[in-house]
Amino acid sequence: MDIYNNPTFNMACRQFDLVADRLQIPDDERGRLKFPKRSMTVALPIHCDDGSTKVFAGYRVQHHLTLGPTKGGLRYHPDVTIGEVAALAMWMSWKCALTGLPYGGAKGGITCDPRKLSITELERLTRRYTQEMIPFIGEKVDVMAPDMGTNEQTMAWIMDTYSVHTGYTVPGIVTGKPVAIGGSLGRREATGRGVGYLINRALDTTGLAANNCRAVVQGFGNVGSVTAFSLAKYGVKVVAVSDMFGGIYNPKGLDLAAVEKYQEEKKSLAGFPGAEAVTNEQLLLLPCEILVPAALERQITEANAGKIQCRILAEAANGPTTPEADVILDQRPEIFIIPDILCNAGGVIVSYFEWVQDLQSFFWTESEVMDKLFRIMETAFAQTLNMSRKQKVTMRTAALSLGIKRVQEAKKLRGLFP
Ligand code: GLU
Repeated sequence: MDIYNNPTFNMACRQFDLVADRLQIPDDERGRLKFPKRSMTVALPIHCDDGSTKVFAGYRVQHHLTLGPTKGGLRYHPDVTIGEVAALAMWMSWKCALTGLPYGGAKGGITCDPRKLSITELERLTRRYTQEMIPFIGEKVDVMAPDMGTNEQTMAWIMDTYSVHTGYTVPGIVTGKPVAIGGSLGRREATGRGVGYLINRALDTTGLAANNCRAVVQGFGNVGSVTAFSLAKYGVKVVAVSDMFGGIYNPKGLDLAAVEKYQEEKKSLAGFPGAEAVTNEQLLLLPCEILVPAALERQITEANAGKIQCRILAEAANGPTTPEADVILDQRPEIFIIPDILCNAGGVIVSYFEWVQDLQSFFWTESEVMDKLFRIMETAFAQTLNMSRKQKVTMRTAALSLGIKRVQEAKKLRGLFP
């Protein structure tokens, strides 16, 4: 399976192998669990606004189909590769299994810089991608959602393109779409609110009081910004946030509403008044109680894991901590880690609710959505913490073990065809 060879995919495999060793999963079951079931690469030619034609690469990886349709986001980013997408699909599998959702993992991506494309170019690219993916997706086959660089509008275009193809409206083909066309109340905020909820639980567990805590958030996109606001609501002081260009730091606390307004206007945090500029690398090392990587993979590495200063590391991003960093963090019991597949699961949980609502054409109130979200997060948190304590393993090992074991069991029960 050399096509997936890439640092992020290798990292996901390493995590899997460590847990598989611990669970004593026999060698002949490992390949089936680890490698993606199906993947698709497409060339996406579009007409650009200047009259030229450009071709982009698009991918979709479906990791396993054992428990139901596959589920996962669609990422627009210049560094997207099939290996990265495969790693993200694998993490989606363990995330869905950990939280008890009837899905396998999937992920998609287009290698592009969405900031450099106009809205009409983005629409053409998204519609072309959807068209190319039609043989591969379906509301009972593979259901997409937003990820980095995509949003509700992207999902609306996918739903429209797919529905035009089928001849009737199929809202269940995507989640994270606007509420006006079958989206769920609370979906946009779900990931960040889930992160906030779990941080609050981690504060209880570690005996810290929210109003004595400072938080540093790397990434101020949908997940990072909602997390920051949600922490502020719990009484935490958010002292630094960042975007892809760098961060802003004020040890006295940032005015988040002003930061959000500034970012909307300037499309960047750089130059935000009353705060010190820091790089994304410096930001991770700032003194704080709560550190939230909410951007790309592989941010906490062997180079900085010994130097981070937090008490709670809440992994809102997928794969922000490398296995080499984990070895160092294992020697730092003062840091409580909420591992990614647990920490950011709120998004896919409410995606699941959205899909169920679409299939039944019966919609819930926001408080029903939030109540059900927090119940599932609470159960997953309690099960992970319980295993971590009882078996004296890290929170990451516990979360991955629970997820991987459930998929392994399902595969065993279904057997191998023919
Ligand atoms: N992209 C999000 C994730 O990584 C959400 C996926 C979904 O809702 O299907 O979990």
